[in-house]
Amino acid sequence: MRPIQMVDLKAQYLKIKNEVDKAVINTIESGAFINGPQVKAFKANLENYLDVNAVIPCANGTDALQIALMALGLKPGDEVIVPSFTYVATAEVIALLRLTPVMIDVDPDTFNVTADLIEAAITDKTKAVVPVHLFGQSVDMEPVLKLADKYGLYVVEDNAQAIGADYTFSDGRVSKTGTLGNIGCTSFYPSKNLGAYGDGGAIFTKDLALAEQLQRIASHGQSKRYYHDCVGVNSRLDSVQAAILTIKLAKLDEYAQARQKVAGSYDLAFNSVKDIQIPAKQQNSTHVYHQYTLKVPAQKRDALQNYLKEKNIPSMIYYPVPLNEQKAFLPFIKEKNRSLPVTESLCRSVLSLPVHTEMDQEQLDYICNEVLAFFK
Ligand SMILES: *Cc1c(COP(=O)(O)O)cnc(C)c1O
Repeated sequence: MRPIQMVDLKAQYLKIKNEVDKAVINTIESGAFINGPQVKAFKANLENYLDVNAVIPCANGTDALQIALMALGLKPGDEVIVPSFTYVATAEVIALLRLTPVMIDVDPDTFNVTADLIEAAITDKTKAVVPVHLFGQSVDMEPVLKLADKYGLYVVEDNAQAIGADYTFSDGRVSKTGTLGNIGCTSFYPSKNLGAYGDGGAIFTKDLALAEQLQRIASHGQSKRYYHDCVGVNSRLDSVQAAILTIKLAKLDEYAQARQKVAGSYDLAFNSVKDIQIPAKQQNSTHVYHQYTLKVPAQKRDALQNYLKEKNIPSMIYYPVPLNEQKAFLPFIKEKNRSLPVTESLCRSVLSLPVHTEMDQEQLDYICNEVLAFFK
């Protein structure tokens, strides 16, 4: 059996090696390393795939979130609501901009924020909310958008884990995650569902005025070279990464199907095990399984991980510590003793199993059997 990895980027590369090698060499030979035609082509392809007016490629997903928040013109002290159960980047950029991250709990089954949880945290200082489509499934966005409308809040979607997922509105309209709020952000970190061979990110919006401001901020605040209208940053996707991403974007839906197939096999194997809760699926979102995350009794979680490790099966804990308990954020927490019981309990009971596009049946069967053996 091939060794099992959380993600197998090498095996995925080997299948597209000819195409990728050619694109990389062409890009290098062209000498257009920055803002070359490859970047423009990828931007256009992603705009088309997502059905948005503007994609602004940038250097990574964290920059995408930072630039998005900078474009909203918020003032120090303004509050931005985020889940506590997410990757650090979501809240980090808020704190970095001297805004106040207000961390809230999530739904115990979908691991995502809900409109009710957001509404309970709104104050007269709240200016924006950053829903995270965690692990590859959309937040239930329709009620969130209604809430944002009612309270006049900006919605910046952290779509780093869910690119390619579809959200269906109650009237039947289907839209890609990341295109539902004012601004969407994503990451092309290699292990993400649309991963580059290095760092990368993108910001998307349907609002052309915002798009202009996002583009300006990503490029030193300039609308014209050497004329700086505002203080910006330097955040670019390079041409080599763009060339690779164009090839992988064309396969993104196929890749999502491969992940869904793995998840389907896990679901089937673990569905009836008393101690395992398989990932809950929402009616109105597809799931692109950036992670396949089980919930197990807290007192058995670490033992399960150790058992799997002995069997050469990697697994990961996303995430072991709630953001509101991280030392870095303590100065930003408004209500020091506000507890987020769901997040705290998830941090003790979740375990993510390997899920990627190159998993074969032998590996899958082996993982399923070992997980089942542990709970027998
Ligand atoms: C990966 C990730 C990011 C950050 O992306 P980078 O490209 O690593 O900066 C932000 N938010 C979430 C939820 C992520 O998973």
